[in-house]
Amino acid sequence: MTEQQRDQPAGRQPTGAPMSPGDEAPEGTPGTGLAICPSCGGSGRVDGRECAECEGTGKVNVGIGGA
Ligand SMILES: [Zn+2]
Repeated sequence: MTEQQRDQPAGRQPTGAPMSPGDEAPEGTPGTGLAICPSCGGSGRVDGRECAECEGTGKVNVGIGGA
């Protein structure tokens, strides 16, 4: 299996894509989607502090998987 770098019309940069620690892939990656952060339950905060998994967004980008 080879992984080729593709030029995307959208011009998304390979680096600098906004990713949170809880993200499995950068937002917009095919086959992935935003889901409620399992760490904070979507509130974006844990114990009164910004959730480290979603960085306070309450959402993480994860692989949707399945057909
Ligand atoms: Zn979170």
